[in-house]
Amino acid sequence: MSLLSLAAWALVAGQGGPTSGPFVPEAAYARPRNRVASDKAIKIYFLRTSFENDADPTVSRHTEEAIQGVGRDLDKYFQIQSYGLMRVDKFEVSPVIKLKDSKLYELTDASGKETPTQGRRNLIRDAISTANTQLSRTLAKEFDFICVLVNESPTKGRLQKANTAAYATGPQNSIFFARAPRWTVFSHEIGHNFGFPHAWSVSPKAGDQVPPKPDDRTFREYGDPGSPMGRGMNSYSIVEKYRMGWIGSSPSDARYIQRLSPGNLRFMAYDQANAKGLVGGYLEGDFGIAAKELVGRNDDGDKLAEMQIAENPGPSRLWLSVISRGNYAQGAMPDLDKPILVAHLSSLTPNATGPSRATMTVSLDLKPGGQARTRERMEDRGLGVGESSSITLKDGRVLKIRFAGFDPVSKMASVEAVFAGSRP
Ligand SMILES: [Zn+2]
Repeated sequence: MSLLSLAAWALVAGQGGPTSGPFVPEAAYARPRNRVASDKAIKIYFLRTSFENDADPTVSRHTEEAIQGVGRDLDKYFQIQSYGLMRVDKFEVSPVIKLKDSKLYELTDASGKETPTQGRRNLIRDAISTANTQLSRTLAKEFDFICVLVNESPTKGRLQKANTAAYATGPQNSIFFARAPRWTVFSHEIGHNFGFPHAWSVSPKAGDQVPPKPDDRTFREYGDPGSPMGRGMNSYSIVEKYRMGWIGSSPSDARYIQRLSPGNLRFMAYDQANAKGLVGGYLEGDFGIAAKELVGRNDDGDKLAEMQIAENPGPSRLWLSVISRGNYAQGAMPDLDKPILVAHLSSLTPNATGPSRATMTVSLDLKPGGQARTRERMEDRGLGVGESSSITLKDGRVLKIRFAGFDPVSKMASVEAVFAGSRP
Protein backbone atom coordinates (compact mmCIF):
# COMPACT_ATOMS: atom_id res chain seq x y z
CA MET A 1 0.00 0.00 0.00
CA SER A 2 1.28 3.44 -0.79
CA LEU A 3 0.24 6.55 1.06
CA LEU A 4 -0.61 8.05 -2.29
CA SER A 5 -3.19 5.40 -3.13
CA LEU A 6 -4.73 5.70 0.33
CA ALA A 7 -5.00 9.47 -0.04
CA ALA A 8 -6.52 9.09 -3.49
CA TRP A 9 -9.09 6.70 -2.16
CA ALA A 10 -9.98 9.07 0.69
CA LEU A 11 -10.45 11.89 -1.79
CA VAL A 12 -12.82 9.87 -3.93
CA ALA A 13 -14.76 8.71 -0.90
CA GLY A 14 -14.99 12.27 0.36
CA GLN A 15 -16.41 13.57 -2.87
CA GLY A 16 -19.40 11.28 -2.67
CA GLY A 17 -20.87 13.11 0.29
CA PRO A 18 -22.24 11.01 3.12
CA THR A 19 -21.19 7.47 2.32
CA SER A 20 -23.42 4.48 2.78
CA GLY A 21 -22.70 0.80 2.44
CA PRO A 22 -19.74 -1.13 3.71
CA PHE A 23 -16.34 0.21 4.56
CA VAL A 24 -13.52 -0.43 2.06
CA PRO A 25 -10.26 -1.30 3.80
CA GLU A 26 -6.88 -0.10 2.60
CA ALA A 27 -5.53 -1.78 -0.53
CA ALA A 28 -3.35 -4.29 1.29
CA TYR A 29 -6.37 -5.71 3.15
CA ALA A 30 -9.04 -5.20 0.50
CA ARG A 31 -10.51 -8.29 -1.12
CA PRO A 32 -10.08 -9.05 -4.82
CA ARG A 33 -12.29 -6.80 -6.91
CA ASN A 34 -14.33 -9.56 -8.48
CA ARG A 35 -15.91 -10.62 -5.18
CA VAL A 36 -19.47 -10.13 -3.97
CA ALA A 37 -20.26 -6.78 -2.34
CA SER A 38 -20.26 -6.92 1.45
CA ASP A 39 -23.77 -5.52 1.75
CA LYS A 40 -25.36 -7.68 -0.89
CA ALA A 41 -28.67 -9.44 -0.44
CA ILE A 42 -27.17 -12.65 -1.78
CA LYS A 43 -28.78 -15.37 -3.85
CA ILE A 44 -27.59 -18.97 -3.50
CA TYR A 45 -28.36 -21.91 -5.77
CA PHE A 46 -27.99 -25.40 -4.31
CA LEU A 47 -27.51 -27.67 -7.29
CA ARG A 48 -28.33 -31.28 -6.50
CA THR A 49 -27.00 -33.96 -8.83
CA SER A 50 -27.00 -37.68 -9.54
CA PHE A 51 -25.00 -39.86 -11.93
CA GLU A 52 -26.61 -41.66 -14.84
CA ASN A 53 -25.21 -44.91 -13.48
CA ASP A 54 -26.74 -44.39 -10.01
CA ALA A 55 -29.10 -47.19 -8.96
CA ASP A 56 -31.84 -44.56 -9.19
CA PRO A 57 -30.60 -41.47 -11.04
CA THR A 58 -33.71 -39.51 -10.04
CA VAL A 59 -32.43 -39.42 -6.45
CA SER A 60 -29.90 -37.12 -4.79
CA ARG A 61 -28.73 -38.08 -1.31
CA HIS A 62 -29.14 -34.38 -0.44
CA THR A 63 -32.79 -34.00 0.50
CA GLU A 64 -34.60 -30.80 -0.26
CA GLU A 65 -35.53 -30.54 3.43
CA ALA A 66 -31.92 -30.77 4.64
CA ILE A 67 -30.69 -28.19 2.16
CA GLN A 68 -33.57 -25.83 2.97
CA GLY A 69 -32.29 -25.98 6.57
CA VAL A 70 -28.78 -25.08 5.43
CA GLY A 71 -30.13 -22.09 3.50
CA ARG A 72 -32.03 -20.80 6.52
CA ASP A 73 -28.99 -21.25 8.80
CA LEU A 74 -26.75 -19.42 6.33
CA ASP A 75 -29.20 -16.51 6.22
CA LYS A 76 -29.10 -16.21 10.03
CA TYR A 77 -25.33 -16.59 10.07
CA PHE A 78 -24.55 -13.96 7.46
CA GLN A 79 -26.94 -11.49 9.05
CA ILE A 80 -25.20 -11.84 12.42
CA GLN A 81 -21.72 -11.85 10.89
CA SER A 82 -22.34 -8.74 8.81
CA TYR A 83 -24.27 -6.81 11.48
CA GLY A 84 -27.28 -6.88 9.19
CA LEU A 85 -25.48 -5.68 6.06
CA MET A 86 -25.65 -9.02 4.23
CA ARG A 87 -28.50 -11.49 4.12
CA VAL A 88 -29.60 -14.38 1.98
CA ASP A 89 -32.25 -12.76 -0.17
CA LYS A 90 -33.12 -15.96 -1.95
CA PHE A 91 -31.96 -19.51 -2.10
CA GLU A 92 -33.21 -22.28 -4.29
CA VAL A 93 -32.77 -26.04 -4.17
CA SER A 94 -32.59 -27.56 -7.64
CA PRO A 95 -34.36 -30.62 -8.95
CA VAL A 96 -31.94 -33.55 -9.32
CA ILE A 97 -29.68 -32.91 -12.30
CA LYS A 98 -28.41 -36.12 -13.87
CA LEU A 99 -24.71 -36.09 -14.74
CA LYS A 100 -22.84 -38.53 -16.97
CA ASP A 101 -21.39 -41.85 -15.81
CA SER A 102 -19.45 -41.34 -12.56
CA LYS A 103 -16.38 -43.02 -14.06
CA LEU A 104 -15.89 -39.97 -16.26
CA TYR A 105 -15.34 -37.80 -13.17
CA GLU A 106 -13.26 -40.09 -10.96
CA LEU A 107 -9.68 -39.18 -10.07
CA THR A 108 -8.97 -42.73 -8.95
CA ASP A 109 -10.95 -45.88 -9.57
CA ALA A 110 -12.32 -48.24 -6.90
CA SER A 111 -8.93 -49.95 -6.58
CA GLY A 112 -7.22 -46.61 -5.96
CA LYS A 113 -5.56 -46.50 -9.37
CA GLU A 114 -5.34 -43.08 -10.94
CA THR A 115 -7.64 -42.66 -13.91
CA PRO A 116 -6.27 -41.20 -17.16
CA THR A 117 -6.68 -37.42 -17.13
CA GLN A 118 -7.52 -37.49 -20.81
CA GLY A 119 -11.29 -37.59 -21.13
CA ARG A 120 -11.84 -36.88 -17.43
CA ARG A 121 -14.67 -34.40 -17.01
CA ASN A 122 -15.00 -31.43 -14.68
CA LEU A 123 -17.82 -32.02 -12.18
CA ILE A 124 -18.65 -28.40 -11.37
CA ARG A 125 -18.61 -27.32 -14.98
CA ASP A 126 -20.73 -30.27 -16.14
CA ALA A 127 -23.25 -29.81 -13.31
CA ILE A 128 -23.82 -26.12 -14.03
CA SER A 129 -23.93 -26.41 -17.80
CA THR A 130 -26.27 -29.44 -17.64
CA ALA A 131 -28.57 -27.60 -15.24
CA ASN A 132 -28.56 -24.51 -17.46
CA THR A 133 -29.54 -26.62 -20.46
CA GLN A 134 -32.14 -28.77 -18.73
CA LEU A 135 -33.80 -25.89 -16.90
CA SER A 136 -33.32 -23.25 -19.63
CA ARG A 137 -31.69 -20.88 -17.17
CA THR A 138 -28.43 -18.97 -16.78
CA LEU A 139 -27.60 -19.77 -13.16
CA ALA A 140 -24.38 -17.74 -13.04
CA LYS A 141 -26.37 -14.61 -13.86
CA GLU A 142 -29.27 -15.36 -11.55
CA PHE A 143 -27.24 -16.30 -8.46
CA ASP A 144 -24.22 -15.00 -6.57
CA PHE A 145 -23.17 -18.46 -5.40
CA ILE A 146 -23.72 -21.90 -6.91
CA CYS A 147 -23.15 -24.81 -4.54
CA VAL A 148 -22.94 -28.16 -6.34
CA LEU A 149 -23.90 -31.23 -4.26
CA VAL A 150 -22.80 -34.62 -5.53
CA ASN A 151 -23.65 -38.22 -4.76
CA GLU A 152 -21.05 -40.80 -3.88
CA SER A 153 -19.65 -42.40 -7.01
CA PRO A 154 -21.66 -45.60 -7.68
CA THR A 155 -18.48 -47.16 -9.07
CA LYS A 156 -16.74 -46.40 -5.74
CA GLY A 157 -13.86 -44.43 -7.21
CA ARG A 158 -12.70 -41.16 -5.72
CA LEU A 159 -14.24 -37.96 -7.10
CA GLN A 160 -12.07 -35.61 -5.09
CA LYS A 161 -8.58 -35.38 -3.66
CA ALA A 162 -7.99 -37.14 -0.34
CA ASN A 163 -9.38 -35.36 2.72
CA THR A 164 -11.36 -32.91 0.64
CA ALA A 165 -14.95 -32.49 1.78
CA ALA A 166 -15.59 -29.49 -0.43
CA TYR A 167 -13.79 -26.81 -2.36
CA ALA A 168 -14.50 -23.46 -3.97
CA THR A 169 -13.41 -22.23 -7.37
CA GLY A 170 -13.19 -18.48 -7.82
CA PRO A 171 -15.80 -15.99 -6.67
CA GLN A 172 -18.96 -17.94 -7.35
CA ASN A 173 -18.84 -21.74 -7.40
CA SER A 174 -18.20 -24.48 -4.88
CA ILE A 175 -18.69 -28.24 -4.70
CA PHE A 176 -19.54 -30.54 -1.78
CA PHE A 177 -18.68 -34.23 -1.48
CA ALA A 178 -19.92 -35.13 2.00
CA ARG A 179 -23.09 -37.06 2.66
CA ALA A 180 -24.68 -34.31 4.75
CA PRO A 181 -22.51 -31.18 4.69
CA ARG A 182 -23.42 -28.84 7.50
CA TRP A 183 -23.96 -25.12 7.02
CA THR A 184 -20.49 -24.54 8.51
CA VAL A 185 -18.92 -26.19 5.44
CA PHE A 186 -20.90 -23.82 3.22
CA SER A 187 -19.80 -20.80 5.27
CA HIS A 188 -16.19 -21.96 4.74
CA GLU A 189 -16.52 -22.36 0.96
CA ILE A 190 -18.54 -19.17 0.55
CA GLY A 191 -15.80 -17.54 2.65
CA HIS A 192 -13.39 -18.58 -0.13
CA ASN A 193 -15.85 -17.08 -2.65
CA PHE A 194 -15.68 -13.87 -0.58
CA GLY A 195 -11.90 -13.94 -1.04
CA PHE A 196 -10.69 -15.39 2.28
CA PRO A 197 -7.74 -17.78 2.54
CA HIS A 198 -7.60 -20.43 5.25
CA ALA A 199 -7.28 -19.22 8.84
CA TRP A 200 -3.96 -20.57 10.10
CA SER A 201 -2.74 -21.08 13.63
CA VAL A 202 0.67 -21.31 15.21
CA SER A 203 1.36 -23.21 18.41
CA PRO A 204 4.53 -24.16 20.25
CA LYS A 205 5.59 -27.80 20.17
CA ALA A 206 6.99 -27.68 23.66
CA GLY A 207 8.42 -24.29 24.58
CA ASP A 208 6.67 -21.45 26.24
CA GLN A 209 7.45 -18.37 24.21
CA VAL A 210 4.74 -16.38 22.39
CA PRO A 211 5.07 -16.47 19.42
CA PRO A 212 7.01 -19.73 19.59
CA LYS A 213 10.59 -19.67 18.34
CA PRO A 214 11.21 -20.82 14.75
CA ASP A 215 12.40 -24.29 15.76
CA ASP A 216 9.43 -24.75 18.03
CA ARG A 217 6.56 -23.80 15.74
CA THR A 218 3.69 -25.86 14.50
CA PHE A 219 1.59 -24.15 11.87
CA ARG A 220 -1.83 -25.53 11.07
CA GLU A 221 -3.56 -24.47 7.91
CA TYR A 222 -7.07 -24.84 9.38
CA GLY A 223 -5.94 -24.05 12.89
CA ASP A 224 -7.99 -21.01 13.89
CA PRO A 225 -10.47 -22.38 16.44
CA GLY A 226 -12.93 -19.52 15.97
CA SER A 227 -13.30 -18.80 12.29
CA PRO A 228 -15.06 -21.14 9.87
CA MET A 229 -12.05 -20.49 7.59
CA GLY A 230 -10.10 -22.48 10.18
CA ARG A 231 -11.88 -25.25 12.00
CA GLY A 232 -14.11 -22.99 14.04
CA MET A 233 -17.85 -22.65 13.99
CA ASN A 234 -18.05 -19.19 15.50
CA SER A 235 -17.57 -15.81 13.92
CA TYR A 236 -15.30 -14.98 11.06
CA SER A 237 -12.26 -13.42 12.71
CA ILE A 238 -12.02 -9.67 13.27
CA VAL A 239 -9.53 -9.52 10.39
CA GLU A 240 -11.95 -11.28 8.04
CA LYS A 241 -14.81 -8.99 9.08
CA TYR A 242 -12.55 -5.98 8.57
CA ARG A 243 -11.62 -7.23 5.10
CA MET A 244 -15.33 -7.64 4.30
CA GLY A 245 -15.97 -4.03 5.26
CA TRP A 246 -18.33 -5.09 8.04
CA ILE A 247 -16.00 -3.33 10.48
CA GLY A 248 -14.48 0.05 9.64
CA SER A 249 -11.35 1.90 10.67
CA SER A 250 -12.50 5.23 12.04
CA PRO A 251 -14.89 6.43 14.76
CA SER A 252 -17.29 7.60 12.06
CA ASP A 253 -17.99 3.94 11.28
CA ALA A 254 -20.69 2.22 13.34
CA ARG A 255 -18.06 -0.22 14.55
CA TYR A 256 -14.39 0.08 13.93
CA ILE A 257 -10.90 -1.09 14.73
CA GLN A 258 -7.86 1.09 15.15
CA ARG A 259 -4.13 0.98 15.55
CA LEU A 260 -3.65 0.63 19.28
CA SER A 261 -0.82 1.98 21.39
CA PRO A 262 0.41 0.07 24.42
CA GLY A 263 -1.47 1.06 27.55
CA ASN A 264 -4.91 0.44 28.99
CA LEU A 265 -7.27 -0.52 26.19
CA ARG A 266 -11.05 -0.75 26.16
CA PHE A 267 -13.09 -2.22 23.35
CA MET A 268 -16.35 -4.09 22.83
CA ALA A 269 -16.62 -7.77 21.98
CA TYR A 270 -16.65 -7.78 18.19
CA ASP A 271 -18.95 -10.73 17.67
CA GLN A 272 -22.07 -9.35 19.32
CA ALA A 273 -24.90 -8.67 16.87
CA ASN A 274 -25.20 -5.15 18.33
CA ALA A 275 -21.44 -4.48 18.48
CA LYS A 276 -20.70 -0.80 18.08
CA GLY A 277 -17.87 1.64 18.62
CA LEU A 278 -14.35 0.31 19.01
CA VAL A 279 -14.40 -3.49 18.71
CA GLY A 280 -10.68 -4.30 18.74
CA GLY A 281 -7.55 -3.27 16.97
CA TYR A 282 -3.92 -4.00 16.39
CA LEU A 283 -0.48 -3.23 17.69
CA GLU A 284 2.26 -2.96 15.10
CA GLY A 285 5.66 -4.55 15.45
CA ASP A 286 7.84 -7.32 14.13
CA PHE A 287 6.68 -10.43 15.92
CA GLY A 288 9.14 -12.61 14.06
CA ILE A 289 6.78 -14.70 12.01
CA ALA A 290 7.41 -14.62 8.30
CA ALA A 291 4.52 -15.36 6.01
CA LYS A 292 6.83 -17.61 4.00
CA GLU A 293 6.41 -20.15 6.76
CA LEU A 294 2.76 -20.54 5.79
CA VAL A 295 3.14 -22.97 2.98
CA GLY A 296 0.55 -25.33 1.62
CA ARG A 297 1.64 -28.96 1.44
CA ASN A 298 0.50 -31.76 -0.78
CA ASP A 299 -0.44 -35.23 0.41
CA ASP A 300 3.22 -36.25 0.58
CA GLY A 301 4.13 -33.28 2.75
CA ASP A 302 5.97 -31.52 -0.07
CA LYS A 303 5.66 -27.79 -0.31
CA LEU A 304 3.41 -26.48 -3.04
CA ALA A 305 5.61 -24.09 -4.96
CA GLU A 306 2.92 -21.61 -5.84
CA MET A 307 2.15 -20.97 -2.19
CA GLN A 308 5.66 -19.94 -1.24
CA ILE A 309 5.85 -16.31 -0.28
CA ALA A 310 8.85 -14.12 0.34
CA GLU A 311 10.04 -12.86 3.70
CA ASN A 312 7.77 -10.42 5.43
CA PRO A 313 9.12 -6.95 4.59
CA GLY A 314 7.06 -4.73 6.87
CA PRO A 315 5.65 -4.52 10.36
CA SER A 316 3.21 -7.18 11.39
CA ARG A 317 -0.07 -6.48 13.08
CA LEU A 318 -1.00 -8.19 16.31
CA TRP A 319 -4.78 -8.08 16.28
CA LEU A 320 -6.66 -8.19 19.57
CA SER A 321 -10.34 -9.00 19.86
CA VAL A 322 -12.72 -10.58 22.33
CA ILE A 323 -14.92 -13.56 21.51
CA SER A 324 -18.05 -13.49 23.63
CA ARG A 325 -20.35 -15.95 21.90
CA GLY A 326 -20.30 -19.71 21.87
CA ASN A 327 -20.38 -22.25 19.09
CA TYR A 328 -22.96 -21.45 16.53
CA ALA A 329 -24.84 -24.72 16.65
CA GLN A 330 -27.97 -25.04 14.56
CA GLY A 331 -28.67 -21.33 14.41
CA ALA A 332 -28.06 -20.61 18.09
CA MET A 333 -25.22 -18.33 19.15
CA PRO A 334 -25.40 -18.00 22.93
CA ASP A 335 -23.26 -15.64 24.95
CA LEU A 336 -20.25 -17.28 26.56
CA ASP A 337 -20.04 -17.42 30.33
CA LYS A 338 -16.35 -16.65 30.01
CA PRO A 339 -15.31 -14.32 27.20
CA ILE A 340 -11.93 -14.96 25.58
CA LEU A 341 -9.27 -12.52 24.41
CA VAL A 342 -7.78 -13.84 21.18
CA ALA A 343 -4.86 -12.67 19.05
CA HIS A 344 -4.12 -12.93 15.35
CA LEU A 345 -1.00 -11.99 13.43
CA SER A 346 -0.99 -10.62 9.91
CA SER A 347 1.85 -9.25 7.83
CA LEU A 348 2.23 -7.65 4.45
CA THR A 349 3.79 -9.89 1.84
CA PRO A 350 5.01 -9.00 -1.63
CA ASN A 351 2.69 -10.30 -4.28
CA ALA A 352 4.12 -11.51 -7.57
CA THR A 353 1.29 -9.87 -9.48
CA GLY A 354 0.87 -6.59 -7.59
CA PRO A 355 1.58 -4.59 -4.47
CA SER A 356 2.13 -6.07 -1.02
CA ARG A 357 -0.93 -7.67 0.44
CA ALA A 358 -1.89 -9.00 3.84
CA THR A 359 -3.83 -12.05 2.82
CA MET A 360 -2.81 -14.52 5.51
CA THR A 361 -3.67 -14.35 9.18
CA VAL A 362 -2.47 -16.63 11.93
CA SER A 363 -4.24 -17.32 15.19
CA LEU A 364 -1.69 -17.02 17.98
CA ASP A 365 -1.62 -19.32 20.99
CA LEU A 366 -1.55 -16.97 23.98
CA LYS A 367 -1.28 -19.81 26.50
CA PRO A 368 1.67 -21.99 25.48
CA GLY A 369 3.60 -24.37 27.66
CA GLY A 370 2.83 -27.82 28.97
CA GLN A 371 1.89 -30.84 26.94
CA ALA A 372 -1.31 -31.76 28.76
CA ARG A 373 -3.40 -29.12 27.09
CA THR A 374 -4.76 -29.94 23.68
CA ARG A 375 -4.66 -26.35 22.37
CA GLU A 376 -7.56 -27.31 20.21
CA ARG A 377 -10.24 -25.09 21.67
CA MET A 378 -10.56 -21.31 21.78
CA GLU A 379 -10.51 -21.29 25.56
CA ASP A 380 -7.20 -23.17 25.49
CA ARG A 381 -5.55 -20.60 23.24
CA GLY A 382 -7.08 -17.29 24.28
CA LEU A 383 -6.92 -15.54 27.61
CA GLY A 384 -9.74 -15.59 30.14
CA VAL A 385 -10.40 -12.61 32.40
CA GLY A 386 -7.50 -12.18 34.81
CA GLU A 387 -5.04 -14.14 32.64
CA SER A 388 -1.99 -12.69 30.96
CA SER A 389 0.58 -13.54 28.35
CA SER A 390 4.00 -12.22 27.39
CA ILE A 391 4.59 -11.70 23.71
CA THR A 392 8.17 -11.41 22.53
CA LEU A 393 9.00 -9.15 19.61
CA LYS A 394 11.82 -9.97 17.24
CA ASP A 395 13.95 -7.19 18.74
CA GLY A 396 13.71 -8.85 22.15
CA ARG A 397 11.20 -6.51 23.76
CA VAL A 398 8.42 -8.19 25.70
CA LEU A 399 4.84 -7.02 25.46
CA LYS A 400 2.77 -8.08 28.44
CA ILE A 401 -0.92 -8.51 27.69
CA ARG A 402 -3.51 -8.99 30.41
CA PHE A 403 -7.25 -9.48 29.97
CA ALA A 404 -8.14 -7.23 32.89
CA GLY A 405 -11.91 -7.32 32.83
CA PHE A 406 -15.16 -7.76 30.95
CA ASP A 407 -18.54 -6.20 31.63
CA PRO A 408 -21.24 -8.76 30.81
CA VAL A 409 -23.88 -6.07 30.25
CA SER A 410 -22.05 -3.60 28.03
CA LYS A 411 -19.77 -6.36 26.59
CA MET A 412 -16.83 -4.03 27.08
CA ALA A 413 -13.39 -5.55 27.63
CA SER A 414 -10.48 -3.97 29.47
CA VAL A 415 -7.04 -5.05 28.32
CA GLU A 416 -3.64 -3.99 29.55
CA ALA A 417 -0.84 -4.09 27.00
CA VAL A 418 2.48 -2.78 28.28
CA PHE A 419 6.11 -3.42 27.58
CA ALA A 420 7.54 -5.35 30.49
CA GLY A 421 9.87 -3.22 32.53
CA SER A 422 8.32 0.06 31.37
CA ARG A 423 6.46 2.28 33.80
CA PRO A 424 2.66 2.13 33.73
ZN1 LIG B 1 -10.88 -24.22 2.26
